[in-house]
Amino acid sequence: SAKAAGKRQWCRYRHALQAGLVERHELNESLDTAIAESAFALYYQPIVDLVSGDLVAFEALVRWPHERRGMVLPEEFISLAEESGQIVPLGAWVLEQAAAEAAAWQRLSSGRRTAGGRRPLRVSVNVSARQFRDASFVDQVRQVVDTTGIHPGSLILELTESVLMRRDERVRTDMKTLGDLGVRIAIDDFGTGYSSLSYLREFPISVLKIDKSFIDGLGLSQQQYALVEGITRIADTLGVQVIAEGIENTAQRHLLASMGCPLGQGYLFARPLTVEQARILVQDDAELAGLQIGGR
Ligand code: C2E
Ligand code: MG
Ligand code: MG
Ligand code: MG
Repeated sequence: SAKAAGKRQWCRYRHALQAGLVERHELNESLDTAIAESAFALYYQPIVDLVSGDLVAFEALVRWPHERRGMVLPEEFISLAEESGQIVPLGAWVLEQAAAEAAAWQRLSSGRRTAGGRRPLRVSVNVSARQFRDASFVDQVRQVVDTTGIHPGSLILELTESVLMRRDERVRTDMKTLGDLGVRIAIDDFGTGYSSLSYLREFPISVLKIDKSFIDGLGLSQQQYALVEGITRIADTLGVQVIAEGIENTAQRHLLASMGCPLGQGYLFARPLTVEQARILVQDDAELAGLQIGGR
């Protein structure tokens, strides 16, 4: 009967729901253990000068090497960690780790810098809204700068538009304090959320990262090209540096370079690299132009 079928369906639904909850619960517990043991790995994706191909920065991207699940990507655990608040200690670990690593690159390449007149390599770290709103965040950044010895101007904190949307006073004062420390703020995934160019005027933003979805359509439509070019021009006028995300082919690279977009990252240049691979790049002062490098 329809009633029996309905009941069977409900049971299936309930089982699935319970299985989901059990899995979530398990994942939360193993995340707790992983956080306690700092059992994560940071990968580093090169950010390059689109004209010269020079390496200018790395974005730190977290992964979770898991004994049963293999290398777990952030999309599978970051939102969970945001909901549970676990992102606060996890994010603290990421920040400290990435800043310490950047300080090490700066020491590795300091000889070269004086010779070549280059700026110190920067590191860009993703910060969740929840993490940014945590009362201790600014102090934590200050402490990380002090203890690692990273040049504060080479630390970029990537925030998403969700942080800026609220326009609240705390966000403003915290950004000001971070700015006074010399740390730079980036808007990540620009164009995907409630994007507003007025953020650039309202907040001390130094970097704008244009989301991959815009880069994908670059060579395909006039409108997409015009949009990215417009954003790049406005940002440039306001003294904000633009980084294009998800560049996968040379056509995209050349279009971006020709419209005056200075920097980019993407599989065309390199995938996120292990810390060892990243160090080799820094040491060898490798030019990434057109070079395909593995990683994950
Ligand atoms: P995101 O910050 O926008 O990072 C860029 C993502 O795009 C990375 O994925 C990167 O591997 C991928 N990507 C880079 N170039 C290309 C390309 O040419 N093609 C394609 N298809 N993809 C490309 P990943 O590492 O899986 O990270 C996903 C998201 O997870 C990040 O997006 C960021 O929002 C979040 N995330 C990663 N690490 C952290 C972290 O330490 N803390 C926080 N709060 N979030 C993080
Ligand atoms: Mg990012
Ligand atoms: Mg991004
Ligand atoms: Mg993105």
